Amino acid sequence: MPWDFETETEFQAQLDWMDAFVREEIEPIGLVWRKPTDPFDVKNETTCELIRPLQEAVRKRGLWACHLTPELGGQGYGQVKLALMNEILGRTNWASRVFGTQAPDTGNAEIIAHYGTPEQKDRYLQPLLNGEIVSCYSMTEPQAGSDPGQFTCKAWREGDEWVIEGEKYFSSHADFAEFLIVMAITDDSVPVHKGATMFLVPRSTPGIEILRNVGLMYESLDEPGAHGWVRYNRVRVPADAVLGEPGKAFELAQKRLGGGRIHHAMRTVAYCRKALDMLCERALSRETQGSVLADKQSVQNYIADSFIQLEQFRLLVLYAAWWCDKGDPRKSRIYISAVKVQAAEVLHDIVRRAIQVHGALGCSNETPLAGLWSTVPMMGVMDGPSEVHRVTIAKQVLRRHVPAADRLWPNEWLPAKISAAREKFAHLLDDTVGNL
Ligand SMILES: Cc1cc2nc3c(=O)[nH]c(=O)nc-3n(C[C@H](O)[C@H](O)[C@H](O)COP(=O)(O)OP(=O)(O)OC[C@H]3O[C@@H](n4cnc5c(N)ncnc54)[C@H](O)[C@@H]3O)c2cc1C
Repeated sequence: MPWDFETETEFQAQLDWMDAFVREEIEPIGLVWRKPTDPFDVKNETTCELIRPLQEAVRKRGLWACHLTPELGGQGYGQVKLALMNEILGRTNWASRVFGTQAPDTGNAEIIAHYGTPEQKDRYLQPLLNGEIVSCYSMTEPQAGSDPGQFTCKAWREGDEWVIEGEKYFSSHADFAEFLIVMAITDDSVPVHKGATMFLVPRSTPGIEILRNVGLMYESLDEPGAHGWVRYNRVRVPADAVLGEPGKAFELAQKRLGGGRIHHAMRTVAYCRKALDMLCERALSRETQGSVLADKQSVQNYIADSFIQLEQFRLLVLYAAWWCDKGDPRKSRIYISAVKVQAAEVLHDIVRRAIQVHGALGCSNETPLAGLWSTVPMMGVMDGPSEVHRVTIAKQVLRRHVPAADRLWPNEWLPAKISAAREKFAHLLDDTVGNL
């Protein structure tokens, strides 16, 4: 009977260390350097000064880049352990950088490790794994995100080179990345899922133009954001810049996104817990009309409903992670989509209640609730909108219920079933029961 909700003692000790380390050493950084892009730019001197010693401590503890297999310098922990770790790391957006598990670098490293040539691994993977450089994943286009059929960025061969031409939108970290993984159409005579290719493109390649660094809704318009609107102006790369094989971009994308989606959900558990902690702390400390908020029944309802939603969500995330560890992508897919959809909704509900209980302070920019609140819509959009994940879920659920030709529910199928059941139990049926 292998079902178990306990964590092995050794790993629990690691989690306890992480919890204290994140609270005491990393969270305070986020209170001073509050720009969400700060932890991402490892070329920034202050960022390096802040994170390098902490990264060293993480390495010493054997917790660096734990999503990686041991051959790549990780622990090969698998998704369930990662889920438990991300519940802690999600408390501050500096923690993933300190622990070497920062998106999109994690997913990018994964596909280079899996599909890259030895030369590509030497050039891009090793420095990425060491946390020395940052990478970018450039797939979404201004006119099309969730519908790749409308992608127009193209690449074609000219002699020994590929030439890339087109625009990409929301290419996170494009500006300070060392290289970009660019998806482009290389064969428009076949459907896009068979005619797109991924390229490894150094950021310094001539022709890469950042049209705008788009910021997120809580960032100031006066400062550049971290999500590049990039124009590839006949960008030339050598033939060996192809990652994997021509035409296989979507195979690589699927491998990359599965992990990314579930990691977002894992971190969302942490966001929700942080909001619930704040809700409780406020409820216990704020007094109004003769008692603390915690004594008011509607506030108790907020707390109870948040707790129930969070625990349900957390269990589903762990269950999805458990399916991932079983290694059958067909089985885990429905659960990954389910947690991706739930992440946005549970986060919405819990943060909304926490803001409500904080009153005017909750509406201000002085608490982490503002950042959490603006994360809600992103959860429903990035790595595929919730609607698209719902389609995936519904299709899989329906597949389990494909009707056989002779099972026409309910007009013909049900009466036939009832007659068969009656016949089976005829010896037990008296007239009264038979007439029911
Ligand atoms: C914070 C953040 C970081 C990101 N980082 C990256 C990155 O690094 N690299 C990258 O390439 N992309 C990145 N993206 C882009 C992201 O992957 C896309 O936003 C996502 O795929 C959706 O595409 P879109 O924005 O073009 O929305 P659209 O595809 O235009 O969809 C808009 C809306 O239409 C509706 N919709 C779409 N399809 C359906 C459907 N089938 N049924 C019903 N309704 C539907 C949904 O409501 C959806 O939200 C990032 C996005 C965010 C928010």
